[in-house]
Amino acid sequence: MISRKSREELKLMRHAGSIVALVHQEMKKVICEGISTLELDEVAHKIIKENKAVPTFLGYHGFPGSICASINEQVVHGIPSKDVILRSGDIVSIDVGATFRGLVGDGAWTYPVGEITEDKKMLLETTQKALMAGVSRMMNGNLLEEVSAAIEDVALAKGLGIVRQYGGHGVGRNMHEDPFVFNYRTGNKTILKTGMTIAIEPMLNLGKDDVYVLDDDWTVVTADEKPSAHFEHTVYVGENGPEILTKLS
Ligand code: MG
Repeated sequence: MISRKSREELKLMRHAGSIVALVHQEMKKVICEGISTLELDEVAHKIIKENKAVPTFLGYHGFPGSICASINEQVVHGIPSKDVILRSGDIVSIDVGATFRGLVGDGAWTYPVGEITEDKKMLLETTQKALMAGVSRMMNGNLLEEVSAAIEDVALAKGLGIVRQYGGHGVGRNMHEDPFVFNYRTGNKTILKTGMTIAIEPMLNLGKDDVYVLDDDWTVVTADEKPSAHFEHTVYVGENGPEILTKLS
């Protein structure tokens, strides 16, 4: 069942989303060559706590961080570590969740570290564009399939791989609620309705679609070791169109 949020719930989700956005604003500032992903985790954890929220990811199925930090060929679910030091030319995907009075905001962004290759720039630009194309279809009465199709079209136009095993999801009182949102067409007939809140999150690869999970049981990597990007917003289906709750300014 897909929940539809009350006015009060929406208010809390806006606030949770704004904390996620705050974390990303700070990530943009502090990400640089030489910083470890554990240090990024500490920065995120502090901001979430200072804003009287709970780091949603910390302890989720035993996950040890407040963020997921995934570099280069890592797609999602990278574990923050003092041993992962960012280098110029890397890309790093930061995914973060904040729970404020029981409601969750969830958002991810992939950041360049120093100078990156043209290929990686295209990957980041295209994945962000795919996210926004999907978000733009989040309208009352649209099929969820239209969101998936919009993302798929942007990815395929640039010949990027689309991660099949992971996707967007309803979000609210739980981080993962119905519906699941594929980032490609599946013939889904779910109709979007005002009040739904859904995290849209394309994960696109410079190479092929295939991914697998490392021995740490968390980190998802591309099978061909080519870079991957991940952009995500929590989005409310509003009366007058989509409202991004995790907007970065
Ligand atoms: Mg998510």
